[in-house]
Amino acid sequence: MKKTADIIIIGAGIIGAATGYYLAKNKLKVLILEKQFPCAGSTGRCIGGIRQQYTHPLSINVMLESVRIFSVLKNEFGKEVEWYSGGYLFLAHSEDKKQTYLQAIDIQKQYQIPVRFITPDDCLQIVKGLNPEGLLGGAYCPTDGQANPFAVTYGYLDGIKKMGGKLLTNTEVAKINVTGNKIISAVTTDNQEYFAPVILNAAGPWAKKIGKMVNLDIPVQPERHESVVTEACERLFDPMLVDYRSDGCYFIQNYGTGHFIGCYTPVPNDPGENIKATSEFLTEMPRRMARLVPRLGNLKVIRQWAGSYEMTPDGNPIVDKTPVEGFYVSVGMCGHGFMFGPALGKYMAELITQGKSSLPLDDFALNRSFGKKEAMK
Ligand SMILES: Cc1cc2nc3c(=O)[nH]c(=O)nc-3n(C[C@H](O)[C@H](O)[C@H](O)COP(=O)(O)OP(=O)(O)OC[C@H]3O[C@@H](n4cnc5c(N)ncnc54)[C@H](O)[C@@H]3O)c2cc1C
Repeated sequence: MKKTADIIIIGAGIIGAATGYYLAKNKLKVLILEKQFPCAGSTGRCIGGIRQQYTHPLSINVMLESVRIFSVLKNEFGKEVEWYSGGYLFLAHSEDKKQTYLQAIDIQKQYQIPVRFITPDDCLQIVKGLNPEGLLGGAYCPTDGQANPFAVTYGYLDGIKKMGGKLLTNTEVAKINVTGNKIISAVTTDNQEYFAPVILNAAGPWAKKIGKMVNLDIPVQPERHESVVTEACERLFDPMLVDYRSDGCYFIQNYGTGHFIGCYTPVPNDPGENIKATSEFLTEMPRRMARLVPRLGNLKVIRQWAGSYEMTPDGNPIVDKTPVEGFYVSVGMCGHGFMFGPALGKYMAELITQGKSSLPLDDFALNRSFGKKEAMK
């Protein structure tokens, strides 16, 4: 029997799951093809941070909507997603950084984000035990937060199944058939053909490979990012602490469990598909965390891993239809895909079902110039 769906989604990370959910709510028959298992890509390697502190107006608007959605997901799914609005604090250790954050705050305030630049003393009030050395203050937004990437992604996938959609795991798409510039079907490595008039590329770090199957060049390059988690301890502070110095790091205490989880951005960056964890990161990351909050020096690291950021040339996602009729992309999340996922899922579902989204996504177009970079990186 011919296997058919209204839409095939390639990838069961947060992007595929969230988009599939909002499409299924629109009564579409959704089929997700996943080469491994849900969260096997970047989503299962993410540290769960959620912020509205961007400078690009579209990213800010997307994140206002995502935060609204995160705050109601528990009710929507009838299950905990560990959303906690503990804030983000971007620390400034140089006049340059302070100015960058002040300019960003001017933009963010136009969107009624309750962000403010706080003094070093205020930073110390919010983060007990913070090292004040060289600190000039910080950009603080109390309505940013955290959630559990697995709970959110599985919540969406369970919703899709309840609404009659399907998820096939261990099912790798090897080929996409196009006839007369129209999407016809996806063929898997075990030679099964699935027919649908619409295919969404939600393949995260593998987005470029999927694009090649329809002769499209999608400018997404994976980049290795590593992470550690420490043993749990009593609650120390709420916000994600971000130190964007070249030898800085960012980390958060998981609200529910008390573990600290964090990353740093390697300098120089580390492009490619290699996601092996390194001993360099394992020694360096705890040192950087303890430099910021010395009392963390007593905590033991219990796990480390690596994953990919999916980078585009300007640090913003690509969310668009394409010149191939029926082929859509929601890719290149540049390390922010978990937090962007709920809103972009909703807007992509509108684009597919209504031909346009309630929030215009032009600045995330596939054919944009990629000239203007996000400053809050
Ligand atoms: C260390 C680290 C920390 C991070 N921290 C944060 C954070 O705090 N906040 C935040 O918002 N983001 C964070 N991110 C980024 C975030 O994890 C990603 O942007 C997001 O998960 C991307 O989701 P996705 O659904 O696009 O991709 P993925 O989760 O990678 O999903 C893509 C899926 O496609 C599947 N696939 C690929 N090719 C095929 C094929 N041919 N056939 C079938 N299936 C296929 C893969 O197996 C994969 O499951 C972090 C990332 C890392 C690595």
